[in-house]
Amino acid sequence: MTSADAANYYFKKAARIMDVGERIETLLVTPLREVKAQVSIELDNGEIRTFQGYRCQHDNSRGPMKGGLRYHPQVDASEVLGLASLMTWKTAVVNLPYGGAKGGITVDPSTLSLKELERLTRKFVDQIHDVIGPTRDIPGPDMNTNPQVMAWIMDQYSKYHGHAPAVVTGKPVELYGSRGRETATARGLLAVCRQILQDVGLPMKGMRFAVQGFGNVGSHVSRLFHDAGGLLVAVSDVHGGVQNPAGLDVPGLFEHVRRHGSVKDFGGGTACTNEEVLTADCDVMVPAALGGVVNKQIAKEVRARIVLEGANAPCTPEADEIFEQRGVLVVPDILANAGGVTVSYFEWVQNLQHVTWDEERVNGELDRMMAEAYEKVGQISRSRKLPLRTSAYVLAIGRVGKATVLRGI
Ligand code: NAD
Repeated sequence: MTSADAANYYFKKAARIMDVGERIETLLVTPLREVKAQVSIELDNGEIRTFQGYRCQHDNSRGPMKGGLRYHPQVDASEVLGLASLMTWKTAVVNLPYGGAKGGITVDPSTLSLKELERLTRKFVDQIHDVIGPTRDIPGPDMNTNPQVMAWIMDQYSKYHGHAPAVVTGKPVELYGSRGRETATARGLLAVCRQILQDVGLPMKGMRFAVQGFGNVGSHVSRLFHDAGGLLVAVSDVHGGVQNPAGLDVPGLFEHVRRHGSVKDFGGGTACTNEEVLTADCDVMVPAALGGVVNKQIAKEVRARIVLEGANAPCTPEADEIFEQRGVLVVPDILANAGGVTVSYFEWVQNLQHVTWDEERVNGELDRMMAEAYEKVGQISRSRKLPLRTSAYVLAIGRVGKATVLRGI
Protein backbone atom coordinates (compact mmCIF):
# COMPACT_ATOMS: atom_id res chain seq x y z
CA MET A 1 0.00 0.00 0.00
CA THR A 2 1.45 3.39 -1.01
CA SER A 3 1.38 6.45 1.29
CA ALA A 4 -1.40 7.93 -0.82
CA ASP A 5 -3.43 4.68 -0.58
CA ALA A 6 -3.04 4.71 3.21
CA ALA A 7 -4.25 8.34 3.46
CA ASN A 8 -7.20 7.58 1.18
CA TYR A 9 -8.08 4.49 3.20
CA TYR A 10 -9.04 6.61 6.23
CA PHE A 11 -10.78 9.17 4.03
CA LYS A 12 -12.88 6.48 2.35
CA LYS A 13 -13.79 4.81 5.63
CA ALA A 14 -15.25 8.08 6.95
CA ALA A 15 -16.76 9.12 3.60
CA ARG A 16 -18.70 5.82 3.41
CA ILE A 17 -20.07 6.34 6.94
CA MET A 18 -21.15 9.85 5.86
CA ASP A 19 -22.55 8.50 2.60
CA VAL A 20 -21.06 11.36 0.55
CA GLY A 21 -21.45 9.46 -2.73
CA GLU A 22 -18.89 8.17 -5.18
CA ARG A 23 -18.64 11.32 -7.31
CA ILE A 24 -17.96 13.68 -4.41
CA GLU A 25 -15.54 11.09 -2.97
CA THR A 26 -13.59 11.10 -6.24
CA LEU A 27 -13.62 14.89 -6.36
CA LEU A 28 -12.31 15.16 -2.79
CA VAL A 29 -9.49 12.61 -3.12
CA THR A 30 -8.19 13.84 -6.48
CA PRO A 31 -5.40 16.44 -6.11
CA LEU A 32 -5.85 19.80 -7.83
CA ARG A 33 -2.33 19.88 -9.18
CA GLU A 34 0.89 17.84 -8.89
CA VAL A 35 4.19 19.44 -9.88
CA LYS A 36 7.33 17.37 -10.49
CA ALA A 37 10.40 19.49 -11.08
CA GLN A 38 13.99 18.91 -12.02
CA VAL A 39 16.30 20.50 -9.45
CA SER A 40 19.85 20.54 -10.78
CA ILE A 41 22.72 22.21 -8.94
CA GLU A 42 26.46 22.44 -9.08
CA LEU A 43 28.09 20.81 -6.05
CA ASP A 44 31.02 22.50 -4.26
CA ASN A 45 33.43 20.25 -6.17
CA GLY A 46 32.08 21.41 -9.54
CA GLU A 47 30.05 18.23 -10.24
CA ILE A 48 26.48 18.61 -11.54
CA ARG A 49 23.79 16.76 -9.58
CA THR A 50 20.12 16.44 -10.49
CA PHE A 51 17.45 15.95 -7.83
CA GLN A 52 13.71 15.45 -8.10
CA GLY A 53 11.41 18.02 -6.46
CA TYR A 54 7.65 17.71 -5.85
CA ARG A 55 4.80 19.99 -4.85
CA CYS A 56 1.34 18.52 -4.59
CA GLN A 57 -1.62 20.88 -4.15
CA HIS A 58 -4.50 18.79 -2.94
CA ASP A 59 -7.50 21.03 -2.22
CA ASN A 60 -8.16 24.78 -1.97
CA SER A 61 -11.88 24.95 -1.25
CA ARG A 62 -11.33 26.42 2.25
CA GLY A 63 -8.47 28.76 1.36
CA PRO A 64 -4.86 28.91 0.14
CA MET A 65 -3.11 25.56 0.35
CA LYS A 66 -0.69 24.89 3.17
CA GLY A 67 1.85 22.19 3.83
CA GLY A 68 5.46 21.43 4.63
CA LEU A 69 8.49 20.81 2.51
CA ARG A 70 10.46 17.65 3.25
CA TYR A 71 14.05 16.82 2.26
CA HIS A 72 14.42 13.05 2.51
CA PRO A 73 15.65 10.14 0.35
CA GLN A 74 12.18 8.50 0.54
CA VAL A 75 10.29 11.48 -0.90
CA ASP A 76 8.31 10.52 -4.01
CA ALA A 77 5.08 11.55 -5.77
CA SER A 78 2.97 9.09 -3.78
CA GLU A 79 4.30 10.14 -0.38
CA VAL A 80 3.82 13.81 -1.18
CA LEU A 81 0.26 13.21 -2.43
CA GLY A 82 -0.66 11.25 0.71
CA LEU A 83 0.78 13.96 2.95
CA ALA A 84 -0.90 16.76 0.94
CA SER A 85 -4.31 15.17 1.45
CA LEU A 86 -3.57 14.80 5.19
CA MET A 87 -3.01 18.59 5.24
CA THR A 88 -6.45 19.21 3.70
CA TRP A 89 -8.10 17.21 6.48
CA LYS A 90 -5.80 18.55 9.22
CA THR A 91 -6.40 22.23 8.42
CA ALA A 92 -10.14 21.49 8.34
CA VAL A 93 -10.09 19.68 11.73
CA VAL A 94 -8.57 22.75 13.42
CA ASN A 95 -10.79 25.02 11.31
CA LEU A 96 -8.01 27.03 9.65
CA PRO A 97 -8.93 28.94 6.44
CA TYR A 98 -6.60 26.76 4.40
CA GLY A 99 -6.50 23.83 1.99
CA GLY A 100 -3.79 21.17 1.87
CA ALA A 101 -0.48 20.79 0.04
CA LYS A 102 2.90 19.13 0.55
CA GLY A 103 6.26 19.14 -1.16
CA GLY A 104 9.70 17.76 -0.99
CA ILE A 105 12.97 16.91 -2.65
CA THR A 106 14.35 13.38 -2.88
CA VAL A 107 17.67 14.01 -1.18
CA ASP A 108 19.65 13.13 1.92
CA PRO A 109 20.55 16.66 3.04
CA SER A 110 23.23 15.36 5.43
CA THR A 111 25.35 14.63 2.32
CA LEU A 112 25.21 18.29 1.20
CA SER A 113 27.14 21.31 2.46
CA LEU A 114 25.21 24.37 3.69
CA LYS A 115 25.97 26.20 0.43
CA GLU A 116 24.75 23.22 -1.63
CA LEU A 117 21.57 23.07 0.45
CA GLU A 118 20.99 26.77 -0.21
CA ARG A 119 21.51 26.34 -3.96
CA LEU A 120 19.15 23.34 -3.96
CA THR A 121 16.44 25.30 -2.12
CA ARG A 122 16.73 28.39 -4.33
CA LYS A 123 16.67 26.26 -7.49
CA PHE A 124 13.53 24.49 -6.30
CA VAL A 125 11.85 27.87 -5.70
CA ASP A 126 12.86 28.91 -9.25
CA GLN A 127 10.86 25.90 -10.46
CA ILE A 128 7.72 26.38 -8.35
CA HIS A 129 7.52 30.14 -7.63
CA ASP A 130 4.66 30.65 -10.07
CA VAL A 131 2.38 28.10 -8.34
CA ILE A 132 3.05 29.11 -4.70
CA GLY A 133 2.34 32.45 -2.98
CA PRO A 134 0.66 34.00 0.09
CA THR A 135 -2.82 33.55 -1.42
CA ARG A 136 -2.12 30.32 -3.33
CA ASP A 137 0.10 27.85 -1.53
CA ILE A 138 2.26 28.50 1.52
CA PRO A 139 5.06 26.00 2.24
CA GLY A 140 6.49 25.44 5.73
CA PRO A 141 9.08 23.21 7.43
CA ASP A 142 8.89 19.43 7.64
CA MET A 143 11.46 16.66 8.00
CA ASN A 144 15.01 17.96 7.51
CA THR A 145 13.96 21.50 6.65
CA ASN A 146 14.33 24.32 9.15
CA PRO A 147 13.92 28.10 9.63
CA GLN A 148 17.06 28.78 7.55
CA VAL A 149 15.61 26.87 4.58
CA MET A 150 12.37 28.85 4.97
CA ALA A 151 14.35 32.13 4.97
CA TRP A 152 15.98 31.16 1.63
CA ILE A 153 12.54 30.34 0.19
CA MET A 154 11.18 33.74 1.24
CA ASP A 155 14.21 35.51 -0.24
CA GLN A 156 14.15 33.65 -3.55
CA TYR A 157 10.38 34.03 -4.00
CA SER A 158 10.66 37.76 -3.21
CA LYS A 159 13.15 38.18 -6.06
CA TYR A 160 10.36 37.24 -8.49
CA HIS A 161 7.32 38.73 -6.79
CA GLY A 162 8.52 41.52 -4.48
CA HIS A 163 8.75 41.44 -0.69
CA ALA A 164 6.46 38.60 0.43
CA PRO A 165 7.18 37.15 3.89
CA ALA A 166 3.74 35.45 3.96
CA VAL A 167 4.77 33.06 1.16
CA VAL A 168 6.30 30.66 3.66
CA THR A 169 6.02 29.95 7.40
CA GLY A 170 8.43 28.58 9.98
CA LYS A 171 10.85 31.41 9.24
CA PRO A 172 13.42 32.54 11.84
CA VAL A 173 11.86 34.83 14.48
CA GLU A 174 14.35 37.53 13.40
CA LEU A 175 12.96 37.35 9.84
CA TYR A 176 9.14 37.48 10.09
CA GLY A 177 8.86 34.14 11.92
CA SER A 178 6.35 33.71 14.75
CA ARG A 179 7.28 33.32 18.35
CA GLY A 180 6.25 29.86 19.56
CA ARG A 181 6.45 28.20 16.10
CA GLU A 182 9.35 25.93 17.00
CA THR A 183 7.56 24.33 19.94
CA ALA A 184 4.05 24.58 18.44
CA THR A 185 3.59 20.98 17.29
CA ALA A 186 4.79 19.59 20.63
CA ARG A 187 2.67 22.10 22.55
CA GLY A 188 -0.39 21.08 20.56
CA LEU A 189 0.40 17.42 21.33
CA LEU A 190 0.61 18.29 25.02
CA ALA A 191 -2.74 20.13 24.93
CA VAL A 192 -4.42 17.11 23.34
CA CYS A 193 -2.62 14.67 25.64
CA ARG A 194 -3.85 16.51 28.75
CA GLN A 195 -7.43 16.25 27.52
CA ILE A 196 -7.33 12.58 26.62
CA LEU A 197 -5.65 11.71 29.93
CA GLN A 198 -8.46 13.55 31.69
CA ASP A 199 -11.02 11.56 29.66
CA VAL A 200 -9.47 8.22 30.62
CA GLY A 201 -8.81 9.29 34.22
CA LEU A 202 -4.99 9.22 34.18
CA PRO A 203 -3.05 12.02 35.89
CA MET A 204 -0.38 13.90 33.89
CA LYS A 205 1.97 13.69 36.85
CA GLY A 206 3.85 10.42 36.70
CA MET A 207 2.40 9.55 33.25
CA ARG A 208 4.95 7.28 31.52
CA PHE A 209 5.64 8.12 27.88
CA ALA A 210 7.92 6.94 25.05
CA VAL A 211 8.99 8.99 22.02
CA GLN A 212 10.32 7.81 18.67
CA GLY A 213 12.33 10.62 17.01
CA PHE A 214 14.24 13.44 18.66
CA GLY A 215 13.95 16.18 16.05
CA ASN A 216 11.71 19.23 16.20
CA VAL A 217 8.62 17.32 17.35
CA GLY A 218 10.19 14.54 19.45
CA SER A 219 12.67 16.66 21.39
CA HIS A 220 10.11 19.31 22.35
CA VAL A 221 7.55 16.63 23.28
CA SER A 222 10.18 15.03 25.54
CA ARG A 223 10.90 18.33 27.27
CA LEU A 224 7.33 19.71 27.51
CA PHE A 225 5.79 16.42 28.71
CA HIS A 226 8.63 16.04 31.23
CA ASP A 227 8.13 19.62 32.47
CA ALA A 228 4.40 18.84 32.86
CA GLY A 229 5.22 15.92 35.20
CA GLY A 230 5.54 13.00 32.74
CA LEU A 231 8.25 10.30 32.90
CA LEU A 232 10.14 9.68 29.65
CA VAL A 233 10.80 5.92 29.73
CA ALA A 234 12.19 5.37 26.20
CA VAL A 235 13.39 7.54 23.33
CA SER A 236 15.18 7.02 20.02
CA ASP A 237 16.44 8.73 16.90
CA VAL A 238 17.83 7.47 13.61
CA HIS A 239 21.05 6.30 15.34
CA GLY A 240 19.49 4.27 18.18
CA GLY A 241 17.56 4.46 21.42
CA VAL A 242 17.79 4.50 25.20
CA GLN A 243 15.32 3.39 27.87
CA ASN A 244 14.86 3.59 31.62
CA PRO A 245 11.61 2.37 33.19
CA ALA A 246 12.21 4.70 36.16
CA GLY A 247 12.35 7.73 33.82
CA LEU A 248 15.22 9.30 31.87
CA ASP A 249 16.91 12.47 33.05
CA VAL A 250 15.58 14.77 30.31
CA PRO A 251 17.86 17.82 30.88
CA GLY A 252 20.82 15.39 30.93
CA LEU A 253 19.59 13.81 27.71
CA PHE A 254 19.46 17.22 26.00
CA GLU A 255 23.02 17.92 27.12
CA HIS A 256 24.11 14.52 25.72
CA VAL A 257 22.41 15.28 22.37
CA ARG A 258 24.04 18.73 22.27
CA ARG A 259 27.46 17.13 22.65
CA HIS A 260 27.08 13.95 20.60
CA GLY A 261 24.27 14.75 18.15
CA SER A 262 22.15 11.73 19.15
CA VAL A 263 20.28 10.14 22.08
CA LYS A 264 22.32 6.97 21.43
CA ASP A 265 24.74 5.98 24.22
CA PHE A 266 23.13 8.30 26.78
CA GLY A 267 24.41 7.04 30.12
CA GLY A 268 21.16 7.52 32.07
CA GLY A 269 19.59 4.30 30.76
CA THR A 270 20.19 1.16 28.75
CA ALA A 271 20.44 0.95 24.96
CA CYS A 272 17.33 -0.13 23.06
CA THR A 273 16.14 -0.47 19.48
CA ASN A 274 13.60 1.74 17.75
CA GLU A 275 11.12 -1.12 17.91
CA GLU A 276 11.56 -1.38 21.68
CA VAL A 277 10.64 2.31 21.97
CA LEU A 278 7.41 1.73 20.05
CA THR A 279 6.52 -1.25 22.23
CA ALA A 280 7.79 0.17 25.55
CA ASP A 281 5.76 -0.39 28.72
CA CYS A 282 4.17 3.06 29.09
CA ASP A 283 0.90 5.00 29.13
CA VAL A 284 1.43 7.17 26.04
CA MET A 285 3.54 6.32 23.01
CA VAL A 286 4.42 9.19 20.67
CA PRO A 287 5.77 8.21 17.24
CA ALA A 288 7.48 11.44 16.09
CA ALA A 289 9.76 10.38 13.23
CA LEU A 290 8.76 8.65 10.00
CA GLY A 291 5.48 7.48 8.50
CA GLY A 292 4.44 3.81 8.41
CA VAL A 293 6.67 2.71 11.34
CA VAL A 294 3.84 1.20 13.39
CA ASN A 295 2.82 -1.81 11.31
CA LYS A 296 0.51 -4.75 11.98
CA GLN A 297 3.15 -6.71 13.92
CA ILE A 298 4.23 -3.81 16.10
CA ALA A 299 0.61 -2.82 16.77
CA LYS A 300 0.06 -6.26 18.37
CA GLU A 301 3.00 -5.63 20.70
CA VAL A 302 2.37 -1.99 21.63
CA ARG A 303 1.88 -1.80 25.40
CA ALA A 304 0.83 1.85 25.63
CA ARG A 305 -2.79 2.66 26.35
CA ILE A 306 -2.71 5.75 24.14
CA VAL A 307 -0.90 6.34 20.83
CA LEU A 308 -0.42 10.04 20.15
CA GLU A 309 0.56 10.55 16.51
CA GLY A 310 3.29 13.21 16.48
CA ALA A 311 4.52 12.14 13.04
CA ASN A 312 2.35 12.16 9.95
CA ALA A 313 0.85 8.75 9.15
CA PRO A 314 3.06 6.76 11.59
CA CYS A 315 0.50 3.92 11.86
CA THR A 316 -0.48 1.79 8.87
CA PRO A 317 -4.22 1.18 8.33
CA GLU A 318 -3.69 -2.49 9.40
CA ALA A 319 -2.12 -1.29 12.66
CA ASP A 320 -5.00 1.12 13.15
CA GLU A 321 -7.53 -1.74 12.87
CA ILE A 322 -5.58 -3.78 15.45
CA PHE A 323 -5.52 -0.84 17.87
CA GLU A 324 -9.27 -0.50 17.45
CA GLN A 325 -9.76 -4.21 18.23
CA ARG A 326 -7.40 -4.04 21.21
CA GLY A 327 -8.97 -0.87 22.63
CA VAL A 328 -5.76 1.17 22.30
CA LEU A 329 -6.77 4.83 21.92
CA VAL A 330 -5.18 6.46 18.88
CA VAL A 331 -5.14 10.24 18.64
CA PRO A 332 -4.77 10.73 14.87
CA ASP A 333 -2.13 12.92 13.23
CA ILE A 334 -4.72 15.25 11.67
CA LEU A 335 -5.75 16.26 15.20
CA ALA A 336 -2.74 15.49 17.43
CA ASN A 337 0.04 17.22 15.47
CA ALA A 338 -2.03 20.11 14.11
CA GLY A 339 -0.35 22.58 16.50
CA GLY A 340 2.44 23.22 13.97
CA VAL A 341 0.19 24.31 11.14
CA THR A 342 -1.95 26.29 13.58
CA VAL A 343 1.00 28.48 14.63
CA SER A 344 2.09 28.63 10.98
CA TYR A 345 -1.33 30.13 10.36
CA PHE A 346 -0.68 32.68 13.15
CA GLU A 347 2.64 33.52 11.47
CA TRP A 348 0.90 34.10 8.12
CA VAL A 349 -1.73 36.29 9.82
CA GLN A 350 1.00 38.36 11.52
CA ASN A 351 2.91 38.72 8.23
CA LEU A 352 -0.19 39.84 6.31
CA GLN A 353 -1.12 42.36 9.04
CA HIS A 354 2.50 43.53 9.62
CA VAL A 355 2.20 42.87 13.36
CA THR A 356 4.02 40.71 15.90
CA TRP A 357 2.30 38.71 18.61
CA ASP A 358 4.03 37.90 21.88
CA GLU A 359 4.57 34.26 22.84
CA GLU A 360 1.83 34.32 25.47
CA ARG A 361 -0.75 35.27 22.85
CA VAL A 362 0.51 32.60 20.41
CA ASN A 363 0.43 29.86 23.04
CA GLY A 364 -2.95 30.97 24.41
CA GLU A 365 -4.58 30.98 20.96
CA LEU A 366 -2.95 27.62 20.14
CA ASP A 367 -4.22 25.97 23.32
CA ARG A 368 -7.70 27.36 22.65
CA MET A 369 -7.84 26.10 19.06
CA MET A 370 -6.48 22.65 19.95
CA ALA A 371 -9.00 22.31 22.80
CA GLU A 372 -11.83 23.30 20.47
CA ALA A 373 -10.76 20.78 17.81
CA TYR A 374 -10.42 17.98 20.40
CA GLU A 375 -13.85 18.83 21.79
CA LYS A 376 -15.51 18.75 18.35
CA VAL A 377 -13.84 15.44 17.41
CA GLY A 378 -14.75 14.00 20.83
CA GLN A 379 -18.41 14.99 20.39
CA ILE A 380 -18.60 13.11 17.07
CA SER A 381 -16.79 10.12 18.59
CA ARG A 382 -19.22 9.92 21.53
CA SER A 383 -22.41 10.59 19.60
CA ARG A 384 -21.63 8.29 16.65
CA LYS A 385 -19.58 5.73 18.60
CA LEU A 386 -16.61 6.07 16.25
CA PRO A 387 -12.86 6.01 16.91
CA LEU A 388 -11.14 9.40 17.14
CA ARG A 389 -9.51 9.05 13.71
CA THR A 390 -12.76 8.36 11.87
CA SER A 391 -14.44 11.14 13.86
CA ALA A 392 -11.72 13.63 12.87
CA TYR A 393 -12.20 12.66 9.22
CA VAL A 394 -15.98 13.01 9.54
CA LEU A 395 -15.50 16.55 10.89
CA ALA A 396 -12.96 17.46 8.18
CA ILE A 397 -14.83 15.93 5.24
CA GLY A 398 -18.01 17.72 6.37
CA ARG A 399 -16.21 21.09 6.40
CA VAL A 400 -14.32 20.60 3.12
CA GLY A 401 -17.37 19.10 1.38
CA LYS A 402 -19.58 22.00 2.47
CA ALA A 403 -17.07 24.61 1.25
CA THR A 404 -16.74 22.77 -2.09
CA VAL A 405 -20.49 22.67 -2.64
CA LEU A 406 -21.04 26.30 -1.51
CA ARG A 407 -18.38 27.59 -3.91
CA GLY A 408 -19.82 25.59 -6.79
CA ILE A 409 -18.10 22.85 -8.70
P1 NAD B 1 13.04 16.35 12.19
O1 NAD B 1 13.76 16.17 10.90
O2 NAD B 1 13.29 17.56 13.01
O3 NAD B 1 13.31 15.07 13.14
C1 NAD B 1 13.12 13.76 12.73
C2 NAD B 1 13.64 12.84 13.82
O4 NAD B 1 13.35 11.49 13.47
C3 NAD B 1 15.16 12.90 14.04
O5 NAD B 1 15.44 12.83 15.42
C4 NAD B 1 15.66 11.64 13.34
O6 NAD B 1 16.87 11.16 13.89
C5 NAD B 1 14.51 10.71 13.63
N1 NAD B 1 14.47 9.57 12.71
C6 NAD B 1 14.64 9.58 11.37
N2 NAD B 1 14.57 8.33 10.89
C7 NAD B 1 14.35 7.53 11.96
C8 NAD B 1 14.20 6.15 12.12
N3 NAD B 1 14.28 5.31 11.08
N4 NAD B 1 13.98 5.68 13.37
C9 NAD B 1 13.92 6.51 14.42
N5 NAD B 1 14.06 7.82 14.33
C10 NAD B 1 14.27 8.33 13.12
O7 NAD B 1 11.49 16.22 11.82
P2 NAD B 1 10.25 16.78 12.63
O8 NAD B 1 9.94 18.14 12.13
O9 NAD B 1 10.42 16.54 14.09
O10 NAD B 1 9.09 15.83 12.06
C11 NAD B 1 8.89 14.52 12.55
C12 NAD B 1 7.54 14.02 12.07
O11 NAD B 1 6.51 14.89 12.53
C13 NAD B 1 7.36 13.96 10.55
O12 NAD B 1 6.52 12.87 10.26
C14 NAD B 1 6.66 15.25 10.23
O13 NAD B 1 5.91 15.16 9.03
C15 NAD B 1 5.75 15.37 11.45
N6 NAD B 1 5.29 16.72 11.74
C16 NAD B 1 6.17 17.73 11.98
C17 NAD B 1 5.69 19.00 12.29
C18 NAD B 1 6.61 20.13 12.63
O14 NAD B 1 6.11 21.20 13.01
N7 NAD B 1 7.91 19.98 12.55
C19 NAD B 1 4.30 19.23 12.31
C20 NAD B 1 3.44 18.17 12.08
C21 NAD B 1 3.94 16.91 11.80
